[in-house]
Amino acid sequence: MDTQMLIGAAFEAGTETEEKVLNPRTGETILAMPEASPDQIDRAVAAARKAFPAWSRTTPAERSAALLAIADAVEANLEDLAKLEALNCGKPIEGVKSDEIPAVADCFRFFAGAVRNMTGPVAGTYMEGHTSMIRRDPIGVVASIAPWNYPIMMMAWKLAPALAGGNTVVMKPSEQTPLTALAFARILSGILPEGVVNVIVGQGGSVGNALINHDGVDMVSLTGDIATGKKVLMAASKSVKRTHLELGGKAPVLVYGDADLARVVDGLKAFGYYNAGQDCTAACRVYAHASIYDKFVADLTAAAASIVFDDPDDTKNEIPPLISPRQRDRVASFVARAAELKHMEITTGGSVGDGSGFYYRPTVIAGAHQSDEIVQREVFGPVVSVTRFTDDDDVVGWANDSNYGLASSVWTRDVGRALEVSGALQYGCTWVNTHFMLVNEMPHGGLKQSGYGKDMSMYALEDYTAVRHVMIAH
Ligand code: NAD
Repeated sequence: MDTQMLIGAAFEAGTETEEKVLNPRTGETILAMPEASPDQIDRAVAAARKAFPAWSRTTPAERSAALLAIADAVEANLEDLAKLEALNCGKPIEGVKSDEIPAVADCFRFFAGAVRNMTGPVAGTYMEGHTSMIRRDPIGVVASIAPWNYPIMMMAWKLAPALAGGNTVVMKPSEQTPLTALAFARILSGILPEGVVNVIVGQGGSVGNALINHDGVDMVSLTGDIATGKKVLMAASKSVKRTHLELGGKAPVLVYGDADLARVVDGLKAFGYYNAGQDCTAACRVYAHASIYDKFVADLTAAAASIVFDDPDDTKNEIPPLISPRQRDRVASFVARAAELKHMEITTGGSVGDGSGFYYRPTVIAGAHQSDEIVQREVFGPVVSVTRFTDDDDVVGWANDSNYGLASSVWTRDVGRALEVSGALQYGCTWVNTHFMLVNEMPHGGLKQSGYGKDMSMYALEDYTAVRHVMIAH
């Protein structure tokens, strides 16, 4: 297993404090990983700066070829990458193999095509005697900082558009999940020129903080907590760095009386609990119409109770444990506080799993009110709240009454209502009669405190490039 970071062309271990990397399924320590020193952080940024002039001058076709080679290599290493990701995150390995690694390869392939197909306003004579044209040029060195819920997929979402756009990168995975990032670094070093991607490991407060404040960094891309996003903005304000922020969510799910209830329940079983709810788009905040509320709660309770999560035979597991004891305890404390309220009913789950893994049982909390903490705050665990609404309630207003604005869904057979409500929801994405589905051609990103950076799609390529005007006097 790799514990060495990639700095320029060299692989070297960190020299500072060791962080234990845990196996969430067993609670055991996989290994201890020393974090990057200030000198190693400086050298990683310097390597990216040194690589920038040549990489930024490559043609889209050359960068596209490199991204296609990365996609092929990801597929060739699918088994090994999936094993590491499953080990480090506790994810059921079949899901990593069928969903996550193929999505990583597809992300690189999408941006390989996208960078050769950028569009914009046409060049023309907008002032007599002058021709104007638009360029899209790279920004420089990007510090990319990722969370622990989808380590290799977040790395792909950050690297592919940044590299396609002609930037060079210093990547820092979460200190809790560095294993696939370091394995991926080996793959990347065989394909990309020296210094185009550097991967360093360490805590947010030390290595992350040094990166976001570094004078040699031109842009910071973070997927993480709102509090961390605010720190990035504070640091960026000192030198007016560009920022790209994806900061969590609390997705509302509006279930109307005419919805196909069996489909809603199947959807919520899958999308409310996928990755144990450690997903910023998780379908976790349900509003169910009074006409179907009781049956919906009963059916969702049965569906959630049927989710397999701690079978010794991993091929049977549908969801993983939480990433850490800290995250499990955080989830448990949300549910404990909810359970203290008289109007709340925990209809299934509500306790930690057996054994030493960091499991929490899939949980349904019925009877939640709009102002309750469980409705307002991101739990990031396998917990779905259900709130009843009637025709007299402003359910769209409730859905929008949130600091978050990432994802939402509407479940109804009425096309007019689906379009009306989709237009009124203040979320980066609204799904109709489904939830959670992502495609590399379409953007993923939020409004409000969910941030404003777009991942995937042409919009990400725009985020990682600067639009420029060149004007020629005839
Ligand atoms: P986190 O903010 O604690 O950590 C994310 C990354 O930021 C880690 O690599 C961490 O080391 C780093 N970091 C922490 N403090 C830092 C600092 N002061 N300076 C620089 N870097 C720092 O979040 P997490 O607990 O790893 O991840 C869970 C959060 O991420 C949730 O809130 C979740 O909703 C959010 N998330 C959002 C999306 C999205 O697309 N919007 C996707 C996945 C996760």
